[in-house]
Amino acid sequence: MTTAPALPGRTDRVADHTRRFAAFLDDEVAPLETDLAARDVGTPGNPRLDEAGRMHPAVWEARREVQRRSAAAGLYNPHVAAALGGGGFGRAEMQHVEEFVYRRSGLGLGLAALAWTEGANPAIEHCSDAARARWLEPLMAGEITAAFANTETAVGTDVLAMETRARRDGSDWVLDGTKAWITNAHFADVVQLVAVTDPGAGTRSLSMFLVDATAPGFTRGRDIPTMLDDGLTGELHLDGVRVPAEDVVGEVGDGFALAMAWINWRRLCRGGMCAGWGEWLLERALDRAQHRTSGGAPIAELQSVQHMLAEMDADVYTARAASLQAQAEIDALPGGAFGIPLHPDAPRLTSLVKVINDEAFFRVADRAVQVHGGTGLRIGSPEEKLFRLARNLKIPAGTVEIQRNAIARGLLRRGPR
Ligand SMILES: Cc1cc2nc3c(=O)[nH]c(=O)nc-3n(C[C@H](O)[C@H](O)[C@H](O)COP(=O)(O)OP(=O)(O)OC[C@H]3O[C@@H](n4cnc5c(N)ncnc54)[C@H](O)[C@@H]3O)c2cc1C
Repeated sequence: MTTAPALPGRTDRVADHTRRFAAFLDDEVAPLETDLAARDVGTPGNPRLDEAGRMHPAVWEARREVQRRSAAAGLYNPHVAAALGGGGFGRAEMQHVEEFVYRRSGLGLGLAALAWTEGANPAIEHCSDAARARWLEPLMAGEITAAFANTETAVGTDVLAMETRARRDGSDWVLDGTKAWITNAHFADVVQLVAVTDPGAGTRSLSMFLVDATAPGFTRGRDIPTMLDDGLTGELHLDGVRVPAEDVVGEVGDGFALAMAWINWRRLCRGGMCAGWGEWLLERALDRAQHRTSGGAPIAELQSVQHMLAEMDADVYTARAASLQAQAEIDALPGGAFGIPLHPDAPRLTSLVKVINDEAFFRVADRAVQVHGGTGLRIGSPEEKLFRLARNLKIPAGTVEIQRNAIARGLLRRGPR
């Protein structure tokens, strides 16, 4: 009998969580997937879009139902601090959870059962007590959804050049500007929005606000269709939107650090996501290679195909191992992955996780298509969808070039060993 090696983060509570998650997928998610499949609305991974280009409302509602049920089952928020009612899992633990969720769910509804960008996140944990009751607790219960709005049409990487402004008016703030490329722009109930409060103050020039999507002056803009083709990315407009002081997250001037906490969370989530989906694609490629024949024999007997499978395995294995190592190191730093101020060793490790996974997963998805031949190019196949998704990953949450900048900055700060 073999025993599992003592990997960082593979704790008893992770084992309990994944065991309960597996049962949840079978008992709660599978029937919802069957219902959805009976309707002509696309799939969770390839939803049809409505006339405005947004995700079909039936697919969105199925995801929402999974979120509510997952929250009720205590599975939605393992990453949130225990003091706030979450699981209090560290990043190495979360990598195991995320890998399990992505491998078992594939492109199905189960992905919605773990809070993604529409749920609670490390930045919103810094909200006031009043905002906790109004926004954070409903988010954790799956009753509402969030979006994170940092990017603007003219400003992506160069965050400090943003133009959305917030000015004080009595104890309130009044916000004006336009945000673009925002995931969940069409549906979010609350927007974690970053705006300039102190022009010229560098990394202290920004603040984060929780903006009520029903507030006067807040409007949703057009859908921005991307190669993900999921009808989830869009624009948001603010015209004199009033936000009470209690909906400032953290302190005024913390916006840059809070935005980085959110972004670093997405960067680190690449580890489990790419290991899970990478393993799923590898399993599918193995199955295809063993059943598809050429010249009367399975293509798995061809060395050219065996090498593609081996290279997929090498990429998944090395990216997973590096991510686990880096996240265990980050967990051990004072303040962990999202501390404010952030430990100076954290950015390099975080960016290593992102760039290693973005690039390894792109190669994995490319080979997965190749092993499947023409079938891998069929619109809507898992290989085709994940190839597009893999290409996308190299840009949001900081491009792969920006990760290299952060890694080099960390190395140069540290100097030779
Ligand atoms: C599907 C999708 C979802 C998104 N979701 C969100 C969201 O929910 N919230 C949000 O706020 N934003 C979101 N974004 C925006 C995303 O974060 C930005 O697209 C990303 O940060 C890159 O900015 P940009 O597109 O303006 O590229 P640019 O900044 O214009 O970069 C263009 C190129 O120049 C390079 N470059 C720019 N500056 C530097 C530099 N200083 N050093 C080296 N290279 C540099 C880049 O690496 C890149 O290759 C999303 C984007 C997409 C595509």
